[in-house]
Amino acid sequence: MSGSKARLEAIDAVKGFEPPAGFFPPLAEAPGDIFGQNVFTKAVMQQRLPKPVFKSVMATIEHSKPLDPTVADIVAAAMKDWAMEKGATHYAHVFYPLTGLTAEKHDSFLEPGGDGSAIAEFAGKTLTQGEPDASSFPSGGLRATFEARGYTGWDVTSPAYILENPNGNTLCIPTVFVSMTGEALDHKTPLLRSQQAMAAQAERVLRLFGHENPDAVVSFAGAEQEYFLIDRSFFLSRPDLLNAGRTLFGAKAPKGQEFDDHYFGAIPERVLAFMFDAERELFKLGIPAKTRHNEVAPGQFELAPMFERSNVATDHQQLLMVMMKRVAQKHGMECLFHEKPFEGINGSGKHVNFSLGNASEGNLLLPGDTPHDNAQFLVFCGAVIRAVHKFGGLLRASVASATNDHRLGANEAPPAIISIFLGDQLTDVFDQIAKGGATNSKERGTLMIGVDTLPVLPTDPGDRNRTSPFAFTGNRFEFRAPGSLQTIAGPMVTINTILAEALDHMATEIESLVSDGADFNVAVQKVLEEVITDHGSVVFNGDGYTDEWQTEAAARGLLNLRTTLDALPQLITEEAMELFSHYGVFSHREMHSRYDIALEQYALSIGVEARLTLEMANTVILPAALRYQTELATNISSLQSIGAEVDRSTLDEVSASIKDLRIGIAKLRAELAHEGSTAMEEAEHAGHNLLPAMTTVRTAADELETFVADDLWPLPTYQEMLFIL
Ligand code: ADP
Ligand code: MG
Repeated sequence: MSGSKARLEAIDAVKGFEPPAGFFPPLAEAPGDIFGQNVFTKAVMQQRLPKPVFKSVMATIEHSKPLDPTVADIVAAAMKDWAMEKGATHYAHVFYPLTGLTAEKHDSFLEPGGDGSAIAEFAGKTLTQGEPDASSFPSGGLRATFEARGYTGWDVTSPAYILENPNGNTLCIPTVFVSMTGEALDHKTPLLRSQQAMAAQAERVLRLFGHENPDAVVSFAGAEQEYFLIDRSFFLSRPDLLNAGRTLFGAKAPKGQEFDDHYFGAIPERVLAFMFDAERELFKLGIPAKTRHNEVAPGQFELAPMFERSNVATDHQQLLMVMMKRVAQKHGMECLFHEKPFEGINGSGKHVNFSLGNASEGNLLLPGDTPHDNAQFLVFCGAVIRAVHKFGGLLRASVASATNDHRLGANEAPPAIISIFLGDQLTDVFDQIAKGGATNSKERGTLMIGVDTLPVLPTDPGDRNRTSPFAFTGNRFEFRAPGSLQTIAGPMVTINTILAEALDHMATEIESLVSDGADFNVAVQKVLEEVITDHGSVVFNGDGYTDEWQTEAAARGLLNLRTTLDALPQLITEEAMELFSHYGVFSHREMHSRYDIALEQYALSIGVEARLTLEMANTVILPAALRYQTELATNISSLQSIGAEVDRSTLDEVSASIKDLRIGIAKLRAELAHEGSTAMEEAEHAGHNLLPAMTTVRTAADELETFVADDLWPLPTYQEMLFIL
């Protein structure tokens, strides 16, 4: 069914919606009762594994020691028993291909026993390695189609879990996904590699500060997920939402977000029920979700899980999106993760909060209580400054996508210029450091001791800046440019790797100064001074949304890569390829493959939208407009036949918009006929030709929406989708 009937029935369906029974959690249930109940946790392992095996697995998980292959059979057996007790009939290696989605290959635990019986099989080899058909996943030329093989490998550092399903539960095992030659085809492999590279350099810095045998350093991530909720009946009668995740048409609602009454407003009961239910499902999976307030736009909300190790946080983030969609559907709603589902209304991001630390030192981005800790903190903080300045282009590229282009750089999301917000106090500290080498020995003297006698740094800087893409928020940095639909793996890989470079550089400098006879504190001061002198231009505490900042950033030499097309070439600069290959995160070939895939995905996603725009314009919008035009024309001729006064103005306006729509359709059709010869050319055509042609069609269609009789209009309107829940 389609057309206006579908729209009106959708509205009726929403009005008649009955919430499913039993979705409010039992009153007596505390989060602790269910937290992690479907996870193969440390506690479960401790209970079920022989002590030496448990210890060996823990050495890998907690201390980044290589996995002992001989324990796999024992772990597999324990995992299988546990899973089957929990009702699992299947297991799946879960991996994260470069489409940005989550892929699973399901297999049954039961294997035919030959005599008609079935035995439960799950050996160590099955746990540690899988072989899905890799040919349907993008590899950017890393895997020719004739050698379709790709392997999944168990990531012991991310816990296995059970996904409940009405027709049987599945044991899910997080894995990496690599080609036969060991090249990464996924998001997890580089994340683990980058984590290792960062840890090696961070531990080196810790040794310089006198921690002889530092515990393994890991990076932590906490991602704030923004999303929209709309009634599912509306979703189903919008082909654009269904296929592209965003509305390709739709006139602005008369009431948008201008009253600011949604932010921190009361959460509708239906949404609250969804949040409780979603939280509960996430708790069972060991995902520490925290219900959040409404966001700025109507229908927009946020959910921020507690931070975890970045590898686990990344897996959890992917799982969270899957679960939220599922739970929303159960509640008759659809959860939209697209960065910009509705034009003219704020989009959704996914702020990635990150820090690094280890068991004995805790958070290394926490300004310490003692001067010595302060110096150590300042080195880590200085490393972030250097990293973001030197590789801002890569950070920008890590969040580049066709969908995020609709949000970044608009005055609701950080600008495309990557800068750092430090806050007044920390900026002042670095200013002092910068002056330390400048004028006279007295000042230098003060400051060298200055490192030792710095005041206790505030853990809460007191000020906040929502316009900065990369902000220090007291004990972590918050990268605000990632889009709501993205995996946080790309940003985390980039952050880990550029930090590895910066820490490496600073450690090397300090070492060399010390070996030349400098006092350790003098060496630290000197290196910090160099960092802030060379890279301080990336620090900007002002309003990132202003035009002045665009001008000033250009004067400071900071990149302003507005679109994905501008940003992606950053991935294949000589400098970027050297960086990633030097730290063993990506080979040059892998870098090229990622670049190619990103371009291809960009062109593909815009191509789908363009074809959808054409189809909807032709089959949904034009017919409605023509019907209304006929109605108006019939009306005029009836009036004429009885000699009544005739006003043709509405008909003329509608006819003019129909003409515009047809011009747009013709233009878009012509642009869609284009065939590019290279990936870049295809992508450029999509960005420079298809998108503007789509806009021409949309403008005419949105104009028609404001004229055509309501009972003839086929698509749920912005007003209906955003305000009826
Ligand atoms: P905001 O003021 O930005 O809304 P919140 O206090 O709600 O901040 O935290 C946002 C996210 O930051 C959460 O996911 C939280 O777990 C995470 N976070 C807090 N501390 C750290 C840290 N040390 N490292 C990484 N993430 C952190
Ligand atoms: Mg935030």
